[in-house]
Amino acid sequence: MYTIETNLAVLATRAKEKEAENDAFGFFLKGNNLKEDVDGLVQQLEASVSSQIDCTACGNCCKSLMINVTEEEADRVSHHLQIERAEFDQKYLEKGSSLMVINTIPCHFLEGSVCTIYEQRFAGCREFPALHLPDFKKRLFTVFAHYARCPIIYNVVEQLKVSTGFFS
Ligand code: SF4
Ligand code: SF4
Repeated sequence: MYTIETNLAVLATRAKEKEAENDAFGFFLKGNNLKEDVDGLVQQLEASVSSQIDCTACGNCCKSLMINVTEEEADRVSHHLQIERAEFDQKYLEKGSSLMVINTIPCHFLEGSVCTIYEQRFAGCREFPALHLPDFKKRLFTVFAHYARCPIIYNVVEQLKVSTGFFS
């Protein structure tokens, strides 16, 4: 029986211990002999793992990721907060030549482990941990970049090792 792990310190230790194993799993997934529908398995596992993890008790993505913001999103959130766009930009954004990002990590809008603008949150926030996206096997670099950050990703990957036959 698999036990869900949510302790971030444990995840960090396991990520170090499992570095070689995870490299081998990546090669295994990309191998030609794998018959399983990996995207289908990942989506099933994500549904199961997500139902057992309370993101409002974690919030680690909001505490550690850089969040991109589009013009439309900045307009929408500033309107929601009832402040002028110029004030919103000055308080919350850092602007590069082509990108805007939230100017703090953790994100300004996190209180404790809860998003205070949840219904208005940005596309990147909605997408993470992105396990519903197709072509999991082509996104392994990103998946493993977040493996120790996100308990959903960690537990999906660990169970995927079993369901694909990697641990046979
Ligand atoms: S906007 Fe909300 S969901 Fe997005 S990073 Fe900030 S706190 Fe997290
Ligand atoms: S998506 Fe992952 S990192 Fe973000 S709050 Fe949920 S479990 Fe934590």
